Amino acid sequence: MISVGVHVSIAGGLDKAVDRAKDRGCDVFQIFSSNPRGWKSRPISVEEAESFAVRFKESGLDLAVDHMPYLPNLASSKQDVYAKSVQALANELGRCQMLGIPYLVTHMGSHLGAGREKGIERIVDALETAFYSVKNEAVLLLENTAGTKNSMGGSFQDIAEILDSLGIRRARLGVCLDTCHLFAAGYELRTQEGLAETLDEFQSSIGMERLKLLHLNDCRGELGSHLDRHEHIGLGLIGETGFRAILSHPALCRLPMILETPVDSRRDDLGNLMAIRRLALELE
Ligand code: ZN
Ligand code: MN
Ligand code: MN
Repeated sequence: MISVGVHVSIAGGLDKAVDRAKDRGCDVFQIFSSNPRGWKSRPISVEEAESFAVRFKESGLDLAVDHMPYLPNLASSKQDVYAKSVQALANELGRCQMLGIPYLVTHMGSHLGAGREKGIERIVDALETAFYSVKNEAVLLLENTAGTKNSMGGSFQDIAEILDSLGIRRARLGVCLDTCHLFAAGYELRTQEGLAETLDEFQSSIGMERLKLLHLNDCRGELGSHLDRHEHIGLGLIGETGFRAILSHPALCRLPMILETPVDSRRDDLGNLMAIRRLALELE
């Protein structure tokens, strides 16, 4: 049995997200605990955190995951944005602690032209600072990206160098692989052989034990197109064949999976959850 779910809104309160995930038949779910397009977040009250934890426990759901807002850029070469970004990361780690959420997903940001080496230095420093200021159990998951211009995290090498530079605090780091981003970045996933080769590379540079979460999204762009355009499961260029390979991989099928697929006239979240579950069932 796979453990799969979608990203849900926290409108009306954090505990409402649990209800939404339950209504949609999720096993796991992801939220933005803060406004995804803002810098400021409303503090979480003790009562609110308690009510989220209780509702989550009652729900029987397997896992809740938090995602960082989009504005922070941990690789920024602009000092003001960078300082605010590190603060936002520390803040979000603290929120995970309050809510009892074990995983926080973050993008690695953009070096804005300063170069990859500078970008990695910035990110490592950001993680050191945030981990130092917030002592908690939440694991920060670095999400791979499509490798668009100046973006960090398009290659396993970026993630590997960050891990290697982090020293003892690397225990607080894991990886979230987004299938759309992987494919767009040029990593083959559509066949068992291609996927095996991709994961061999992941194993030798990062280590499979770091992989904690999958973002399952099909991709509108070609392999290596660097286009970050999510598509409904099976309707993009990864296709049903690709998702069969992913779901039948012994190391991947055991991981929690979150869909970040579009909602449009063709399909909604429920439709994509059904598509994934149908493919997984066919393989049993
Ligand atoms: Zn993400
Ligand atoms: Mn993602
Ligand atoms: Mn994306």
